[in-house]
Amino acid sequence: METHEAEANQVVVLGTGGTIAGTAADPGDNVGYQAAQLGVAQLVSAVPALAAVSLACEQVAQLDSKDMDFATWRQLAIRVAAHLAREDVAGVVITHGTDTLEETAYFLQRVLAPKKPVILTAAMRPATALQTDGPQNLLDAVAVAQDPQASGVLVVFAGVIHAAEQVRKAHSYRVDAFVSSDGARLGLVEEGQVRWVQGLGQARPGVGLEVLPTAAKDWPRVEILLNHVASDGRLVRALLAQSTDDKPGGLVVAGTGNGSLSQDLEAALREAQAQGVRVLRSTRCDAGPVTASADALPSAGALSPVKARVELILQLLNESKS
Ligand code: ASP
Repeated sequence: METHEAEANQVVVLGTGGTIAGTAADPGDNVGYQAAQLGVAQLVSAVPALAAVSLACEQVAQLDSKDMDFATWRQLAIRVAAHLAREDVAGVVITHGTDTLEETAYFLQRVLAPKKPVILTAAMRPATALQTDGPQNLLDAVAVAQDPQASGVLVVFAGVIHAAEQVRKAHSYRVDAFVSSDGARLGLVEEGQVRWVQGLGQARPGVGLEVLPTAAKDWPRVEILLNHVASDGRLVRALLAQSTDDKPGGLVVAGTGNGSLSQDLEAALREAQAQGVRVLRSTRCDAGPVTASADALPSAGALSPVKARVELILQLLNESKS
């Protein structure tokens, strides 16, 4: 159980790898590097201002987040929950790769729905770059983890505080790679000062650690499909034809615009539904929700396709436990 104590002042930094822990042979090289090379304690010691903060470090994983997996997700959620339950801990910071950071953020929010802050941060440039962004992002993340108003899973990147539900990586290369659309960014970090620009809102309860299977094979398979010119239902039908063990438990479709689908893709998805496969309709647009309608396939609301997939995985796990 999480406790909120007045004297809680320690921030725990959990390392998982990513470009923030990456190194390149040439300091001028921002792209030709190896992710996940430095330990989290090295990342912390590279930021002199953090010496004044009560910090503890733990290496939970060391990977490029393009390879993030269910076993690491489960272990990370367990470690976050264990640290948050300590009375002396004010919040947790997670260093992560940028590629799948938004999926991990949404996963942790929907599993734990923590009251204390859990801040994910990352870097677009390796630690060896001439102008690396990791140390400043880490310093800002620790400042938000200590802020009394901070709560839940947040992403701090390039001086901006984002909500787990809204944030997306929107640029492949620039150092301000993350956005929250529809004016949803929560705050800014300015020279170590946190300035909130809107309230955090009410979080839904988390599904809890108990629903997460130990074995990766026991996590439901949920695939993402895309509507586009001349799309049809053949991929969906190929998935439905798989053996029982491989058949997906759910499908997310990234529709065009407000979740629209070609006639044959929609027909195939309705066949999937009729066979017990759960379907969620998202959009391939960068912003905006898919409005729900009684005669359409279920909407994923404002969740992006990758977050709708996380949501569906957790819903399926939650239902199979109850
Ligand atoms: N591929 C890297 C990762 O996600 C990219 C990054 O961290 O910026 O781990």
